Amino acid sequence: MLNLSRPDLFKQQAYINGQWVDADSGETIAVRNPATGAVLGTIPKMGATETRRAIEAAATAQKQWRRLSAKERAVILRRWFDLMMTHQDDLARIMTLEQGKPLAEAKGEIAYGASYLEWYAEEGKRAYGDVIPGPAHDRRIVVIKEPVGVCAAITPWNFPSSMITRKAGAALGAGCAIVVKPATQTPYSAFALAVLAQEAGVPEGVFSIVTGSASAIGEEMTSNDIVRKISFTGSTDIGRLLMAQAAPQIKKISLELGGNAPFIVFDDADIDAAVEGAIVSKFRNMGQTCVCANRLYVQRGVYDAFVEKFTAKVAQLKVGDGLQAQVTQGPLIDQAAVEKVKEHIEDAVAQGAHIALGGKAHELGGLFFEPTVLTHMKSSMKVAREETFGPLAPVFAFENEDEVIELANQTEYGLAAYFYSRDIGRVWRVAEALEYGMVAINSGLLSNEAAPFGGVKQSGFGREGSHYGLDDYLVIKYMLMGGI
Ligand code: ADP
Repeated sequence: MLNLSRPDLFKQQAYINGQWVDADSGETIAVRNPATGAVLGTIPKMGATETRRAIEAAATAQKQWRRLSAKERAVILRRWFDLMMTHQDDLARIMTLEQGKPLAEAKGEIAYGASYLEWYAEEGKRAYGDVIPGPAHDRRIVVIKEPVGVCAAITPWNFPSSMITRKAGAALGAGCAIVVKPATQTPYSAFALAVLAQEAGVPEGVFSIVTGSASAIGEEMTSNDIVRKISFTGSTDIGRLLMAQAAPQIKKISLELGGNAPFIVFDDADIDAAVEGAIVSKFRNMGQTCVCANRLYVQRGVYDAFVEKFTAKVAQLKVGDGLQAQVTQGPLIDQAAVEKVKEHIEDAVAQGAHIALGGKAHELGGLFFEPTVLTHMKSSMKVAREETFGPLAPVFAFENEDEVIELANQTEYGLAAYFYSRDIGRVWRVAEALEYGMVAINSGLLSNEAAPFGGVKQSGFGREGSHYGLDDYLVIKYMLMGGI
């Protein structure tokens, strides 16, 4: 059924201290394919005890791992990157089966995820310190950077592979060990990564995967004093909970949480480019990314032209099982996701929105939903404030720059924002005025391993990717050299 060229990449056990293991209780959880509802397999239902074991193993392993030179660690990380790329097709297939995204997108995510291993293999070599001129002639100030220690990560289902490598690459490159809890919906991509980590020579205990009860695992990760750093990608509600749980021990923490991205098209924009960008930004992963355009704002002068071209493009999207060629829109992850899209549409329509396209569950049934475009939008509608996380594009009209900046910033989130304009003055003004961690100008895509990914406000803090991302896994030590 899986049809993999390396069937051993599909594991149904967790990976702790270099061993493939079941839950102590022997209990399992079934994992389903969102496109068909069929059970793909099971995973161990673990809790605090197994998580503690993984953390203790990480503590032992990290002592050795940090002693390796960055160059020695880089060789292993690079090998892991190479193995991901060699097995890109199998890894993508596993991802599509458990997550639903079209195979081409899944392949793209494997390459994107692998790029973080490649990047941090190199970046780990550049954990530079400083020598600071001191105030006294007989003393010197030396600053070095050291790995923070044992890390724990909790990752979401929308990017089952890259949200793990983005954290693990930086952690391992910095000299840390990491225990990862993937989302229960998408564990097999995580296990497959562990198979390849083992093959690449990542020492036992340096990279472990535990699955099971999110709350029990999360509580152990945040309360175990061996863990020095928590990295979380997921909803703002769970991020807030983990931050509170990590507070008593003052753990270092990074949070990459929800977003409510504005996508702004000004009168002077290249409209065809804006349409292309809006499609990519809105409908990638069926609208289930934290940087997906959630609110499209189009200036009055180009509103009708944009809506016409955009709707025509959206109509060309093909819904279906992600394993089928030509499909661009897979199923949503679960019924709750479908209900949220429906709720946003119903609320908007009740307040006067027009459905330009779609608007209901797809005739394929199950978790498939029609790509939807709404017009005649008002800022009182739910979709203006809440993240939809689905294939719904609401197109709002606006009059001028000041107005749209205010509308764009009217949210507690601050992850990604997009805008299209050819006017250089406006580009600077608007980019600086947007209260977001990331701003894409004349582009619908902004994620890559060389750039710092992260938010402001209630979208979280910490950065992943780029040289900034390494800092999240390092601590600074200042050494005063006296008696000179
Ligand atoms: P989403 O709504 O996108 O599923 P969540 O924040 O619920 O986002 O999930 C992101 C990750 O957080 C998943 O791995 C999930 O299992 C995990 N998670 C959910 N609840 C908790 C919790 N109480 N403690 C720790 N992790 C949790």
